[in-house]
Amino acid sequence: MTGKTHIIGGITASLAFAQTTNYDPFILVGAGVIGAILPDICHGGSKIGRTLPLLSKIINTLFGHRTFTHSLLFLVLMAALMNAFVPNEAFTAGILVGMASHLVLDMATKNGIKLLFPLSITVRFPITARTGGTAEYVVFTALSLFTVYFGYGVFIS
Ligand SMILES: [Zn+2]
Repeated sequence: MTGKTHIIGGITASLAFAQTTNYDPFILVGAGVIGAILPDICHGGSKIGRTLPLLSKIINTLFGHRTFTHSLLFLVLMAALMNAFVPNEAFTAGILVGMASHLVLDMATKNGIKLLFPLSITVRFPITARTGGTAEYVVFTALSLFTVYFGYGVFIS
């Protein structure tokens, strides 16, 4: 999926999550967007890869694309690290929710992800979308509608 779809996915997921918690929704959504683009650090052409090119290069060389940073292992490690070092629970929750949304969206692409890294099993949904294709546009539109729906629930009502 493109960065744009990941960002809207992160917003949708963190807004949905905000409805079930008392965390500050602004912190949740802000962190959700960061979390949603974080896994693509393994890919030099992504938004985050262009922001942190050296780190991106190192991770890409060590692990390749869509492996370690797209795995449950990485999610668990991030959760442990953030619980230890980040005092703001809402921020930590937002990052993790955003990351989870990224993994789910990439599972809906043809290449899938190595969710169970270091196992080399590719995980993807039975129906997938080509990155940048019509199906992704449909996903993007659906996520935008969900964002309005959840955003209304969190900020207005
Ligand atoms: Zn990705």
